[in-house]
Amino acid sequence: MAQQDDVFKKIVSHAKEYGFVFPSSEIYDGLSAVYDYGQNGVELKNNIKRYWWDAMTLLHENIVGIDSAIFMHPTIWKASGHVDAFNDPLIDNRDSKKRYRADVLIEEQIAKIDDKISKEVAKAAKRFGDAFDEGQFRATNARVLEYQAHRDALHERFSQAMNDNDLEGLRQIIIDEAIVCPISGTKNWTEVRQFNLMFKTEMGSTADGSMTVYLRPETAQGIFVNYLNVQKTGRMRIPFGIAQIGKAFRNEIVARQFIFRMREFEQMEMQFFVRPGEELKWFNQWKEWRLMWHKALGLGDEKYRYHDHEKLAHYANAATDIEFRMPFGFKEVEGIHSRTNFDLSQHEKFSGKKIQYFDPEINESYTPYVIETSIGVDRMFLSVLCSSYEEEQLPGGDTRVVLHLPAPLAPVKCAVLPLVRKDGLPEKAREIVDDLKFDFATHYEEKDAIGKRYRRQDAIGTPYCITVDHQTLEDNTVTLRERDTMEQHRVAIADLHKLIHERVSLSSLLRKLK
Ligand code: ATP
Repeated sequence: MAQQDDVFKKIVSHAKEYGFVFPSSEIYDGLSAVYDYGQNGVELKNNIKRYWWDAMTLLHENIVGIDSAIFMHPTIWKASGHVDAFNDPLIDNRDSKKRYRADVLIEEQIAKIDDKISKEVAKAAKRFGDAFDEGQFRATNARVLEYQAHRDALHERFSQAMNDNDLEGLRQIIIDEAIVCPISGTKNWTEVRQFNLMFKTEMGSTADGSMTVYLRPETAQGIFVNYLNVQKTGRMRIPFGIAQIGKAFRNEIVARQFIFRMREFEQMEMQFFVRPGEELKWFNQWKEWRLMWHKALGLGDEKYRYHDHEKLAHYANAATDIEFRMPFGFKEVEGIHSRTNFDLSQHEKFSGKKIQYFDPEINESYTPYVIETSIGVDRMFLSVLCSSYEEEQLPGGDTRVVLHLPAPLAPVKCAVLPLVRKDGLPEKAREIVDDLKFDFATHYEEKDAIGKRYRRQDAIGTPYCITVDHQTLEDNTVTLRERDTMEQHRVAIADLHKLIHERVSLSSLLRKLK
């Protein structure tokens, strides 16, 4: 674990050193859980968004996009349930004065027991070798059975307390499990309180009579309240989807782990409207499609898993997370929810407007059911960054830091490097840049030795370096260096465009999603 923490720290400092992510307001000592994206970060982030947007709107004839405002009528949040129920249970440790989410403390305790079980299983597997039967071991080993019984009872109690909104029950679990504050090491806990995660502000001057508005905690409601507009003006027929990318804000109680949990973040959400009764079929379909989207990036299939929810949100009848193996464990990157007709019905009730769909195929009007796919841009960014980072040992004892970013997502696609700063090589290199820059994010670099320039490009994940040398002036060829293998090939300038395009174009990635 300590080693993993170490790697994560290195990734965070690499992100800063190479212009990917900076702490917000850094010269004023930062603002907790708020970050800015730098010159390379914004490109990587834009490429992630483009990959998602195109996968939704280009590959599905029945999905269109919108861009709704962050400020919305406050009654929307009453209707959606956020004013009354978008809460997290918080608890403070009196000695360290640190604040925690009570549910997270208990979830971590459950994970600790799971770890203990896994360790026992791994130990036994090593001891018994090929003859090991895991199922039998789990069913008969006294210690594993004891851990498992404890885990199941704890889980049951936890689910019950969460479902009943039983704050005292949550606190009692923390006491009974002897959970201590990781900072002070004590069990000196306060009561558990509900804390609403929405940021509030005022709209209009007080003279006019101002109104309390919220910074949206999710982009989804902007889609729901535009359902009729899009359906009518786009003549959309069910099933159809509306996609949106935009900022969301949550006053998270505990904001840790870099850009994993932020107070201002970005979501990519798609609401897919279906006929009632067909929602679970579509839910399973979207589960599959979304995992395919992730896996097409080639970050490693073993790094993903589904986590089906047992406790469902008040609006859902099925929900799953796609989790990604971050350096700090498997964590949610995307949620897929079957939200029933809850949101549209609530908006119908609160607005007094009829929000229905007339289905010509069955000659019936109904409130559509909704499947939502909701992914955080920043968490996606983090998963790409973490799985791309490598400190590679090179033959000869050298090391290099390289980001093996999926080529279509890389901030810079190719760097053109004149071998020396004389003899007409810079001019020739500029000519190549002037040709490639219309299609690819292209860098020109002439400072420092060529090896150093290669390393700088490796560190930001540039898939190709193009080196212009004296031979280039004679025969119009260059060396094309590939980031991951560091192999170099002599290629004609005339072929560069095609070679680079094959590897870095977004369409090559989208074609994998057929
Ligand atoms: P968590 O349980 O981690 O708080 P959530 O279940 O509340 O997340 P959703 O409401 O389903 O998250 O939001 C959808 C997606 O938005 C998440 O899968 C995640 O990628 C992203 N997201 C949610 N909260 C944050 C945050 N504070 N910072 C960054 N991304 C977030």
